[in-house]
Amino acid sequence: MTPWNPKIELMPKEELDKLQLKSLKALVYRLYDFSRFYHDRMDAAGVSPLDIRTLDDATKLPFMVKKDLREIPMDQLFMVSNRELVRFHASSGTTGVPTIVGYTQNDVTNWSESVARGLAAAGLGQDDILQVAYTYGLFTGGLGLHYGAERLGATVVPASTGNSERQLDMIKRLGVTAIACTPSYLMHLGEVAGKIGMDFRRDTKLRTGILGAEPWSEGMRSRMEEKLGVKAINIYGTSELSGPLWCECTEQDGMHVWRDQTLIEVIDSKSGERLGPGEKGELVITMLLKEAVPIVRYRTGDIATVDEEECECGRTHPRLGRITGRVDDMLIIRGINVFPSQIEYVLMQNPELGNEFQIVVERKGALDDLLVKVELKPESFIDNVAKMECLREKITSKIRNTLSIAAEVELVEPNTLPRFEGKAKRVVDRRRL
Ligand code: ADP
Ligand code: ZN
Repeated sequence: MTPWNPKIELMPKEELDKLQLKSLKALVYRLYDFSRFYHDRMDAAGVSPLDIRTLDDATKLPFMVKKDLREIPMDQLFMVSNRELVRFHASSGTTGVPTIVGYTQNDVTNWSESVARGLAAAGLGQDDILQVAYTYGLFTGGLGLHYGAERLGATVVPASTGNSERQLDMIKRLGVTAIACTPSYLMHLGEVAGKIGMDFRRDTKLRTGILGAEPWSEGMRSRMEEKLGVKAINIYGTSELSGPLWCECTEQDGMHVWRDQTLIEVIDSKSGERLGPGEKGELVITMLLKEAVPIVRYRTGDIATVDEEECECGRTHPRLGRITGRVDDMLIIRGINVFPSQIEYVLMQNPELGNEFQIVVERKGALDDLLVKVELKPESFIDNVAKMECLREKITSKIRNTLSIAAEVELVEPNTLPRFEGKAKRVVDRRRL
């Protein structure tokens, strides 16, 4: 498929080096002048903008982590005033405090450009009809894909999540050719289609899936492609970086990361040292053109490799391989990030509950199911079914409101959950991808 922006996407590597360095230098000056937070960080690390002379000098810059975005006051973090902001997005934080990211018009434009390039690389164009079945709202998935697809000139069906039968009806009725959603949701749609006697190959024009926001495997890819007749394309991003950003091309061999916008590194998560090409480690991202919120050497917590070799498709930009794990205990349930500490935070606010809890994640059919078992305090363990049910419902809704996720809550008798001598193992993940 023709690149969306051939000048940049096919640019020789040496020219990309120059372009990237120019943007990196401009970025450090902007950070130093406009982000109080990053200015102080650079001072503390003894780095001045003048120290950044080569691309490798980026390693002199201090890392950023999710906690920074959550805890640093907005007036110290943000590099622009409200006047220049056009949008906010947020994801739920580990202690109920959301991580907020702001965007200027240029931030939104660059984000959409990145997605448009990715969708074109995945084989989509102006004749395509893309159903966006990621959540619209504070989460970045829905609007990210939406703006990118419109930029590409494709037609968007802004379906958002839920109501599978209506999703299928739209796919059929509107002649939808591509769908953007989590891989598990596409599998689920396939199952629902089967139940109502609908066959994707026979009854629809659906040929491409733009699938991300949660880990999946090559095994899942081949199963989906065989069963549904849909080319399954991986897409990656995080709300801190902007949202979904990078897609595989039709070679399906890693997601092209646009060097004019991004500097990608892989580090050893223990030592913080940068690793060599092809080595597996924690992904660290610098967004070179961001105006509103700095994303500089941001530690994503995701584990992957980066392939620097030129792709068969001719694009000269590096390719990010599948995310193979996390450096922390973050779970992704139906595309939503959940830290066990968030669940703990919600539970511990209830005086009726004890200290022990267990999180069980299973894949029922194609979708994830979350069960939270929690011990009652001896004094609150009473034989009143109605009261217990009321408490259970209260906790279920607190979890839903704080984490935006539906969990089944089970209140168990005191002293029935396993105890641990060392580090507690609170999560039982029974999913097989
Ligand atoms: P998103 O809208 O993409 O889910 P979030 O910020 O909520 O953005 O979540 C980002 C996290 O989701 C990433 O750090 C990563 O762990 C996971 N993720 C996103 N896309 C993928 C993917 N294609 N494969 C594996 N994990 C992914
Ligand atoms: Zn390619």
